[in-house]
Amino acid sequence: MARYIDKDKLIRNADFKKFYEKKLGKIPKVSRNGLSEVDCKCKFHNDKKPGSFAVDLKTGDYHCFSCGAHGSVVNFIMHEKNITYYESLEELEREVYYG
Ligand SMILES: [Zn+2]
Repeated sequence: MARYIDKDKLIRNADFKKFYEKKLGKIPKVSRNGLSEVDCKCKFHNDKKPGSFAVDLKTGDYHCFSCGAHGSVVNFIMHEKNITYYESLEELEREVYYG
């Protein structure tokens, strides 16, 4: 049986700035609307120019204004690595506590 992973606790302890910096290779910068725009290309569609991808550093949610990809940080890992929800929780756990 799979071990229980407390997602809410992980989200509370996660450093989303560090997380996305690592994933995207860019430091997210906070914009006027409170979203943190990342000057980089979306990983989830064939993006031609940077600027369409945004992350919310408070919640860890991401959104692409170009292809509409969006979700939580757990969805991001699922999407990126093509793994299950539970596997991405494990991955996030590693990032948060041992990353
Ligand atoms: Zn996109």
